[in-house]
Amino acid sequence: MSDVQRVAKKIDGKAFAENMRRRIAVQVEKIKSSHGITPGLAVILVGEDPASQVYVRNKGKQTAECGMTSLEFKMPATATEEEVLAKVEKLNNDSDVHGILVQLPLPDQINEAHVINAISPDKDVDGFHVINTGRLATGQKAMVPCTPAGCVVLIKDVLGNDLSGLKAVVIGRSNIVGKPVAQLLLNENCTVTQAHSRTKNLPDECRAADILVAAVGRPNMIEGDWVKPGACVIDVGINRIAAPERGEGKMRLVGDVDYESACQVAGSITPVPGGVGPMTIAMLLAATVTACCRIEGLVEP
Ligand code: NDP
Repeated sequence: MSDVQRVAKKIDGKAFAENMRRRIAVQVEKIKSSHGITPGLAVILVGEDPASQVYVRNKGKQTAECGMTSLEFKMPATATEEEVLAKVEKLNNDSDVHGILVQLPLPDQINEAHVINAISPDKDVDGFHVINTGRLATGQKAMVPCTPAGCVVLIKDVLGNDLSGLKAVVIGRSNIVGKPVAQLLLNENCTVTQAHSRTKNLPDECRAADILVAAVGRPNMIEGDWVKPGACVIDVGINRIAAPERGEGKMRLVGDVDYESACQVAGSITPVPGGVGPMTIAMLLAATVTACCRIEGLVEP
């Protein structure tokens, strides 16, 4: 079969995340029975953004399903920065809480960096605190952002643990996805190119990639002929587009990669939905267990 006819292996992030959650539930049970400690995750939601409400609800549900304590703190959209900082401080000092997550985005009157950097770095399960960013960049033990960590877990599941020398192209340089993905792949000894909106000849850059990670936020931007035959393609993008075929006013989710054409060339590829997306909460739960073990002085699973 020629490269053009090849259909990529679909990377099933949904199934992978389900398995991960089952393993995490076993770890949580062990921590409880051996040490009498229940890992606890606290989520702060400020305002009524509908998407954030859904995310927080799902996080809470899955945290509880894994046997952990799930705490949710809803604050009004009018909350001041001082009020949010006071809540963070209280949770920093709460010994039943091992992970703290502040759902982003925050309302305009609140400085996100102030709030994130007020979280105890040891409880920063989202890995956005500047100390964790610095630790990751300098090869120290860090709390790692969940979506990027999920990308690398999926890549290793497909390509094996040794990614040394592979050429990785990461499109996007945001602090929450692009930069940490590139950093993690660099730490895995990949040769990493970080592409962004000013990158010249982006299709050519992509064609050189053994691992192509798209974190842009532009529907179907990366076409099949940008993909190196056999490459591992990780599509982080979540884009809502009109789906008239489903009825008037209906929408559907697509990634940054044109799945149909990329499938003909790639060796493996994550679908949207059902690829990277489900990994984020699974990695958050894993991070909470890790934070709990580090804080309580237990052996990490
Ligand atoms: P940002 O908007 O913060 O960053 C987008 C990046 O894409 C920027 O670095 C930008 O470059 C780059 N970019 C924009 N246009 C182009 C272009 N034409 N060519 C090359 N690069 C371009 O987005 P995020 O990183 O927050 O998120 C990216 C996507 O991932 C979104 O679709 C988001 O919904 C999704 N996402 C999914 C998650 C999950 O699965 N759980 C979690 C988080 C995000 P520049 O810096 O030059 O502007």
